[in-house]
Amino acid sequence: METSDFIIAGGGIIGIRISLALREKYPHASIILMEKEKTPGEHSSGRNSGVLHAGFYYSENSLKAKFTRQGNEELTQYALSRKLKINRCGKLVVAQNPQEEETLRLLHERGKNNGVDVSLITERDARQLEPRVKTHGSALYSPSTSSIDPREIVLTLAHDAEQKGIRIRTGEKYLSRDGKSGGDELSIKTSGGKYSTGYFINAAGLYADAIAHDFGMGKDFIILPFKGLYLYSAPVPHPLKMHIYPVPDLRNPFLGVHHTVDSIGRNEIGPTAIPAFWKENYRGMGQFNLREMISIIWTEGRLFLGFGKKGFDFRSLALREVKKYSRSHLVKVAGSLAEGVHKKDYTLWGHPGIRAQLYNKKENLLEMDFKMEYDSRSMHILNAVSPAFTASGPFARYVVEKIG
Ligand SMILES: Cc1cc2nc3c(=O)[nH]c(=O)nc-3n(C[C@H](O)[C@H](O)[C@H](O)COP(=O)(O)OP(=O)(O)OC[C@H]3O[C@@H](n4cnc5c(N)ncnc54)[C@H](O)[C@@H]3O)c2cc1C
Repeated sequence: METSDFIIAGGGIIGIRISLALREKYPHASIILMEKEKTPGEHSSGRNSGVLHAGFYYSENSLKAKFTRQGNEELTQYALSRKLKINRCGKLVVAQNPQEEETLRLLHERGKNNGVDVSLITERDARQLEPRVKTHGSALYSPSTSSIDPREIVLTLAHDAEQKGIRIRTGEKYLSRDGKSGGDELSIKTSGGKYSTGYFINAAGLYADAIAHDFGMGKDFIILPFKGLYLYSAPVPHPLKMHIYPVPDLRNPFLGVHHTVDSIGRNEIGPTAIPAFWKENYRGMGQFNLREMISIIWTEGRLFLGFGKKGFDFRSLALREVKKYSRSHLVKVAGSLAEGVHKKDYTLWGHPGIRAQLYNKKENLLEMDFKMEYDSRSMHILNAVSPAFTASGPFARYVVEKIG
């Protein structure tokens, strides 16, 4: 049996940054990070929009508000100092009617409260910044929102972790907690063997709920998968130069389909938030898991039938999102935000991502903020939803502070 002071399950951005934060705090500790896939970042962390968010969406007392601005600054500096791809393109949030202009004002206020550089500008000024933008009256401008290549960042951070003596074991899956473990040590079974550890950290993204349940944690929660599809534009004469987002429905955790300019300037539409039927339900029947499907359909079915209404309307979301499997529909939705958005240009589907969204069974709602449960022997990151990529640095340090 191998022994380590810390074992982390999950080699996404959160697991990797927790390993680095642990190394900062405990320079001599032994740290093992296991990742079930062949390389780090194969799930959410490598399949997202790559947007470094500014931090103006979130209400003041949330962890998202606390960590996003700082996380954006840190990853911007990291990308610049390591010469990684970054496109400091900025972002506009646009309104479609006077009610949405009200929400823009609220977001502006939230941004100011969170210390974010954000301004309300006129329709005319918005067009000066991005000639193709469509908005009603005003727009919110965020200069610090940018794009990175998420996979490049994750792999570079994983390399840093290895340089700092963190043992990254790819192709190794956490299987169970060994019930017999007692005293100060925990025993863990993996696909590679048995380990004994002083502290266990669960950063397993879509599977964080199942692992937490092994430890008697997160009993009120399960993770629901929501599929994010992307549609790329072929090169066009006047590509968008900056991100354009709609005003979000603040009662649900997703931002709505938007235009993203990626780290190398390509235009894309997405991501959707379509309820998926199993956790790694990326395409067709890949990674099909019957047990997961039954449990997810049971929960989503109940939500759809209205058992879970509490400020958030799953049925409307599901019906609205499922239409976005249609290319014409997706292009039409995105066309309300910018001029010159034509179906003939948007022909290439990108790699989908799946959001690991925490559902609170007791309260019947989708959790909006980052969430974790922990005790003196284990820590479980249960809701590392967007913008957890952006916020990962300060969030990881916060997690490590809680470990003691
Ligand atoms: C479509 C989409 C768009 C997004 N856009 C943005 C954005 O623009 N900006 C932003 O800041 N955030 C964005 N996010 C959110 C961001 O991607 C996530 O918050 C972040 O990647 C979460 O990281 P993670 O490490 O928790 O999860 P993951 O990256 O999913 O990592 C978890 C890892 O655990 C591994 N694992 C699972 N089970 C086991 C096991 N039993 N044993 C060992 N390993 C295991 C998995 O293989 C996986 O690699 C987006 C997310 C999605 C899905």
